[in-house]
Amino acid sequence: MTKEFSVQTIVTILKRVLPADSGTLALHEPSFEGNEWLYVMECLDSGWVSSAGKYVDRFEQMLREYTGVKHAVAVVNGTAALHICLKLVDVQPGDEVLIPALTFVATANAVHYCGAIPHFIDSSRQTLGLDPVKLEEYLQEIADVRKDGCWNRRTGRRIKAAVPMHTFGHPVDLDALAAVCQRFRLELVEDAAESLGSFYKGKHTGHWGKVSALSFNGNKIVTTGGGGAILTNDEALGRLAKHLTTTAKVPHAWAYYHDMVGYNYRLPNINAALGCAQLEKLPQFIERKRALVEVYRQAFADVESVQVFTEPPFAKSNYWLQTLLLDERCADYRDELLDATNLAGIQTRPAWTLLHRLPMYEECPRMDLEVATMLEKRIVNIPSSQKLTITSIF
Ligand SMILES: *Cc1c(COP(=O)(O)O)cnc(C)c1O
Repeated sequence: MTKEFSVQTIVTILKRVLPADSGTLALHEPSFEGNEWLYVMECLDSGWVSSAGKYVDRFEQMLREYTGVKHAVAVVNGTAALHICLKLVDVQPGDEVLIPALTFVATANAVHYCGAIPHFIDSSRQTLGLDPVKLEEYLQEIADVRKDGCWNRRTGRRIKAAVPMHTFGHPVDLDALAAVCQRFRLELVEDAAESLGSFYKGKHTGHWGKVSALSFNGNKIVTTGGGGAILTNDEALGRLAKHLTTTAKVPHAWAYYHDMVGYNYRLPNINAALGCAQLEKLPQFIERKRALVEVYRQAFADVESVQVFTEPPFAKSNYWLQTLLLDERCADYRDELLDATNLAGIQTRPAWTLLHRLPMYEECPRMDLEVATMLEKRIVNIPSSQKLTITSIF
């Protein structure tokens, strides 16, 4: 029997399937169940807590092995990773960079740090990320492809790169986007901050971009406290990424010589130690997240006007954040639902405010953002921690 939509119905279902919590049940909590204590303690005991030590190398090697991408450079956070990714593909001041309007603000900020201008693109209902079909049609309309790259006819600026983001862990249609980028001479950079453990057509995300960025912030699927990484299959870019993120110091036994303006973006050893222990658990985390979406799917199966978002057919997602999509006619109840769930001790949140509506980005170029606007009104993220499927009673 189908149940009619009401805010109360949703709260009741969430209460039923989620474990009782004395405080507030968080949207996403990290799990430390493995060697975290051991590895971090070893850093403290040995004194190697900062910018030298074995865990950074080990963490980078584990990332390479897990993702299959040939080079991984660990950095202080995902935003720094994105910043360097854009530098690596030579985004210059005054360039435009195509990014989704529906993403975390870091994607746009990294573009701004390069002196470049974010240019907002619409999303696809199927992936929640950049829509390759709409992007292609739009570029046909506004862009000229010349020998020296892609130019925006309307603004007179070069469009240098596109940065798709794998929303809540769900991969965008990478083959289609890569084809568009190739046709329009755009560099492809993946904001894979949310998609560690997500695969597109059997291959880990992060392979399609010339360079890609990961994040290990406290709320991501794997955390180093704060941290990020740059991935690339290009050896020269991998070396340059390491150089740029370690103050561009030329290796020497005692001399301090720097040959570029570099960044102090290296991940400290103590954070990498935490990351090594977390990566050992990643396959288990993903299994639990994929079990959780099944629980939610069953729980909401017969509720009208609410869908549990599931991965596109070409993807195997890490389901980093679980997502309810309200039907158009229920979108008006979104805020009421957010209030009621948070009041009931179940942390939920809406999607990010679309970036073109933030004061610092409202003058930036953008296409028609119909789908992103619709998604923004209808997305509600619900508790997603990996621990939920072990402690609860289903
Ligand atoms: C988390 C995240 C980042 C980077 O975040 P940091 O907190 O700097 O590690 C970038 N883009 C997206 C889409 C993210 O979700």
